[in-house]
Amino acid sequence: MLKSICGVEAAPGQTVYGWLEFEGSKLPVVVSQGKSAGPTLLILGMQHAMEFSGPAAIDRALEMLDLDLLKGTIVSMPFVNPLQVNLDSDQKALAHKNVETNLNRQWPGSAESDNQFSRLAALLWEQAVKSCDALLDFHCCRNIDPRFSAALEGHAPSEKLAADSGLEAVDLQTAESYAKGLLFVLAAQQLNKKAVLIESYPGGFQIRAAVEPCAAVIMNSLVHMGQLEVWQPTIYSPSVPPAIFRRSEPGTEIKNKYGGYLAPRRWAGDRVKKGDLVAVIRSMDTFEILEELRTPIDGAVGCVGSPRRGGLVLEQETAAVVKSAG
Ligand SMILES: [Zn+2]
Repeated sequence: MLKSICGVEAAPGQTVYGWLEFEGSKLPVVVSQGKSAGPTLLILGMQHAMEFSGPAAIDRALEMLDLDLLKGTIVSMPFVNPLQVNLDSDQKALAHKNVETNLNRQWPGSAESDNQFSRLAALLWEQAVKSCDALLDFHCCRNIDPRFSAALEGHAPSEKLAADSGLEAVDLQTAESYAKGLLFVLAAQQLNKKAVLIESYPGGFQIRAAVEPCAAVIMNSLVHMGQLEVWQPTIYSPSVPPAIFRRSEPGTEIKNKYGGYLAPRRWAGDRVKKGDLVAVIRSMDTFEILEELRTPIDGAVGCVGSPRRGGLVLEQETAAVVKSAG
């Protein structure tokens, strides 16, 4: 059984929040160790700025996981690109058109490169990719695409994992078909790892309709890997009858003290009782929960999240608004 990755170690039945350092920046590393031995699944998020599917899926999977039932290890790295984690949509579009500043064009990377993105890829390749049995690399696609998993065509273990991930389509690619230096292609080709890239819409803030299928990819992959026996998805149904808001009544703002990753625990429209948990703030250094945000009133969630910054909030922002509801 894998005991330590990126210098982070967890005892059986334990989840440990730590980090990997890259040239003065911290990348969160979460190691979840099952009670019994088994393979290692590596989950990567946010190679690309504003593509919050990875941290959202990891947050949800960590909530659902029962480590007593898990075999082996899950290594979650929700923010692998500290060089671009704070880019907004406009800056992201420019950065990713340039091959030099697109992390997912650098793999396997070189520690001696003049390009810091190549050095970052090399560190992740050595410290994390080489240590896993399978990897999931989360991204966000266009709203007009299906949610899909991509695998290297002809690499049967990766093709099978992609098919079992449970999304709407599988996109088979080759080293020549789209772009050079893609993580999932190189990890399958050079290291014979099961490697799949996940694309889910929308980008930016992750809504419930996106979080659930992305978290399901993680759980389905654990079943595929033999790390969980079974997994049954929870079926979401909206409030019945619906929450009735009045536009004339002001909402009650819930302010977060800490900046970080905002993970909703209840969603817009959900009925809540005073004291219910509406959202948590996770650390950008370790991904551990820094703060729990609870509603001070009965009602329903009017909104949750900060759409301007995708999944991130600054210190002392409004993380959610709760309104009285009929
Ligand atoms: Zn991407």
